Amino acid sequence: MNLKKFLAGFIILFSFAGCSFKESDSKKLSVKKAEGTVISENPQEFTIFAIHLGKAFNGELPVFNKAFEMTNIKLKGIASKNQSDEVLAFNLMMAAGELPDIIAYELPEELEKLGAEGKVIPLEELVNKYAPNIKKFWEENPGYKKDAVAADGHIYMIPNYNDYDSISTSQGYYIRKDWLKRLGLKDPKTLEELYVVLKAFREKDPNGNGVKDEIPLFLRGNTSKKIISSLADIFKAEYSWYSKDEKGPVFGPAEPEYKDAIRELAKWYREGLIDSEVFTRDVSSRDYILNNNLGGFTCDWFSSTGNYNSRLGNAIPGFDFSVILPVEYKGKRTTSFARENYLGGWSITKAAKNPVEIIKYFDFWYTEEGRRLWNFGVEGDTYVMENGKPKFTDKVLKNPDGIIPLMVLRGEGAQYRLGMFQDGENERQWADPEAVSAMDLYIKSGVVKSHMPILKYTKEETAELSKIDSQLYSIAEEMTQKWILGVSDVDKDWKNYMRRLRSVGLKRAEEIQRQAYKRFMEK
Ligand code: CA
Repeated sequence: MNLKKFLAGFIILFSFAGCSFKESDSKKLSVKKAEGTVISENPQEFTIFAIHLGKAFNGELPVFNKAFEMTNIKLKGIASKNQSDEVLAFNLMMAAGELPDIIAYELPEELEKLGAEGKVIPLEELVNKYAPNIKKFWEENPGYKKDAVAADGHIYMIPNYNDYDSISTSQGYYIRKDWLKRLGLKDPKTLEELYVVLKAFREKDPNGNGVKDEIPLFLRGNTSKKIISSLADIFKAEYSWYSKDEKGPVFGPAEPEYKDAIRELAKWYREGLIDSEVFTRDVSSRDYILNNNLGGFTCDWFSSTGNYNSRLGNAIPGFDFSVILPVEYKGKRTTSFARENYLGGWSITKAAKNPVEIIKYFDFWYTEEGRRLWNFGVEGDTYVMENGKPKFTDKVLKNPDGIIPLMVLRGEGAQYRLGMFQDGENERQWADPEAVSAMDLYIKSGVVKSHMPILKYTKEETAELSKIDSQLYSIAEEMTQKWILGVSDVDKDWKNYMRRLRSVGLKRAEEIQRQAYKRFMEK
């Protein structure tokens, strides 16, 4: 992404908008000129459905109030405060049949389905005419534009984009380096070396309490999908649809690599190398295991794992939980934990009376100022400009109430998932420096395997695929747990397992996926 060009585009727009207002309304100009972002002469309010991370949209948060000041457009959330389940609330709204002006949602396929049904409107013409910043952003980043185009060629939503170029990675591997040192071991570079290390963690009492209480490999997660994905990643297998070769997507848990991974994982589990409660712990288990000096190795988010050294360094003498690159296995040294291009997006419904103003409002968030507002909050409060760049204030970085930076920002309305464009600089500033250098290590080492793009399906394909998919994952999850926990044997079961996957439509799902893949790649 070329920021300079992006900025230049904004300046042109800025001066243009300033001119037009000068001619038409000098009184308004005196109030709003400084911003150059006013969309409507009279204040307007639009209704929006949005729930992000359990929080119903609140248009009174500082970021959205500031946007109102700048644009004269106000958003009013229609979800009530006690509605925290996004999917449930969305389904209720659709069943009730009353549409707000705007819908923001985590699942793009649902927005596109509404598009096919005529409930949300196509945006491509509107963007062309009234959204110069979004248009420019897409012109400079054709990959991001592809993500916005539905299977029928229309654009029904503006995605909420991640800054993939700046931060392409999400999760990494962490190990107790002080334990390695104590046992005279080096950073494991291959799978074989990792096995030796985990075995030593198990057998040689690296926490020195005389009890065999170490948990060599531990993971946390509120779904078994998260746990299985991390376990499989060690062996370069994937618990998802992924693009294996030029033909396109395969269902990971039906691939030979997966079978191979499960066989090894079952052995590791049997030997006590994997946390015996790996499938039943919750998201707080990482804190428990590390605070109690029990865990040796994990795979988790950089931004939340990279700060344990500063948190626990004093409590546990010598504590050093630091990043290592993925180990090499069968010639590969990659991890599949890449960031998606985007998460969800927002759409304009057929009920909206002023789609032009709404698309201009969407576009506002792609101006330099709008993007900064969404990423950094309100200037002078959560950030200040230094040498032309936003810098977070102590309110974010050293919050007097001890609130972590991301939560401070979310409290302001920043980073609320709608249809904006993340700035990687944001995370680089608030994340622990150790986490940032860990992410950079992964990115620079080229170990992060790019994701298959989020594919687009027709309404019929979505219906068929989601039905098959839920059965495929249900079988895969059931059997994977049985195999790893040693209840059953993967080699013995594999043939029958494959038969079960085929009987619920594995081949058909593969066909749909490959068709969608081909369509996406040719776009
Ligand atoms: Ca011990």
